[in-house]
Amino acid sequence: THQVHIIGGGLAGSEAAWQLAQRGVKVRLSEMRGSGQGHTDAHQTDGLAELVCSNSFRSDDDTKNAVGLLHHEMRRLDSLVMAAGEKARVPAGSAMAVDRDVFSDEVEKALGNHPNIEVVRELVDELPSEGMTIVATGPLTAASLAQSIVKATGEDRLAFFDAIAPIVYRESIDMDVCWIQSRWNKRTEASNEDGDYINCPMTKEQYLAFHQGLLDAEKGEFKDWEADTPYFDGCMPIEVMAERGVETLRYGPMKGVGLDNPHDRTEEHPQGRWPYAVVQLRQDNKLGTLWNMVGFQTKMKYGAQVKLFRTIPGLENAEFARLGGMHRNTFINSPILLDCQLRLKSAPHIRFAGQISGCEGYVESSAVGLLAGLMAACELRGEVWNGPPATSAMGALLSHITGDAEASSYQPMNVNFGLFPTLEKVPKKQRKEAYTERGKADFGEWLAGLESVPA
Ligand code: FAD
Repeated sequence: THQVHIIGGGLAGSEAAWQLAQRGVKVRLSEMRGSGQGHTDAHQTDGLAELVCSNSFRSDDDTKNAVGLLHHEMRRLDSLVMAAGEKARVPAGSAMAVDRDVFSDEVEKALGNHPNIEVVRELVDELPSEGMTIVATGPLTAASLAQSIVKATGEDRLAFFDAIAPIVYRESIDMDVCWIQSRWNKRTEASNEDGDYINCPMTKEQYLAFHQGLLDAEKGEFKDWEADTPYFDGCMPIEVMAERGVETLRYGPMKGVGLDNPHDRTEEHPQGRWPYAVVQLRQDNKLGTLWNMVGFQTKMKYGAQVKLFRTIPGLENAEFARLGGMHRNTFINSPILLDCQLRLKSAPHIRFAGQISGCEGYVESSAVGLLAGLMAACELRGEVWNGPPATSAMGALLSHITGDAEASSYQPMNVNFGLFPTLEKVPKKQRKEAYTERGKADFGEWLAGLESVPA
């Protein structure tokens, strides 16, 4: 009999299983592929921890890169994904790329041979009503289980599509051109004093050129199995909206009314004139370092996005923490639903891990799986969990998932320095190194104090 049931033998589930088993916990790992009962449209094999698209774990530079720092922390925690990745490694400069088949085989071997792990090929249809469980079924969670999750969390708490608007680093926005204000100066209790939006004003000429740019930009294609998933209300790609007519955006997300541009004051408009059109950004994390472009979810190619969005007044030097995108993606609204230990508040025997919890990427999904495994092991031992510091990559990712992110616009996110507590006194040029050094030091201290991690 098992002590923890892990559903989903992808990246997060495999890593969680390893972490638990290495700490003496008996695990049942259920994977639907290979059972004849279920498959996803992206996976090609029945192997555990299959990489469905690129073969890269991205930067392995642990001196000035957030995902490189995450690699470092995972290695220090005896990560199976990192160890298997090392064995499968292929040359890729400063990035870590792997042979996907060798990688999956290594994971399969490590888990299959482990005395504490039973890998069961089965489709799980429902959230178990009892017993410690980790749900790690990923962005393409089987429909029956997704329905069961909806039942447990509420209709509008599970998304089947991500509609990602680009996110800009606050410090790269030119505030000599933009200004902060809410439309009609409307406020709520949670409002900032000056207003909640950064506004980038456009003249008529700029707007027309931008509209044309949207029509002309190179777009990515929806995959066949994505094409029949309907757009949610309010999630239509910006370029599709542009195709509906030249004025559509000006009556939608780019509406200029009710916004007084203080950089454009006249005698008649001492507060500032309304711009012809506007691009609005809204705060995306508690720290206020990341701002998302409201209504700008898009299927434009990344290069086309950067080129076009940098023509927006005030965003000429914008640095993007994330570019826009739209994909089939199952994920829950974790900031509302989960406690700080990834447990469902309404059913705390269930943890969520991996992409379904709202991180993005192979490495991030594995890292959250690792954390879920550690948390479950601590809970079984009756220990108090003191999670990794918020200044570490794992801590920053965990904070994003379990509380720091804006719940109303919650979308999966790669790890990035915008999720870390700011280091304002350090000159911008040295900040990445400084974040990394601070993260490593604090993580090291935390690790030393984490008694339950074997040496
Ligand atoms: P997965 O690795 O998908 O694992 C979930 C597992 O659960 C699967 O094996 C699935 O078969 C199983 N499962 C689902 N439902 C059930 C059920 N009810 N019962 C039993 N088993 C079940 N990230 C990158 O970093 N780089 C990329 O290039 C990249 N490309 C992507 C391309 C696509 C098409 C998609 C959808 C995602 C991509 N991602 C990419 C994002 C993400 O990193 C991966 O999806 C990653 O595999 C997520 O890890 P996971 O463990 O959360 O989910």
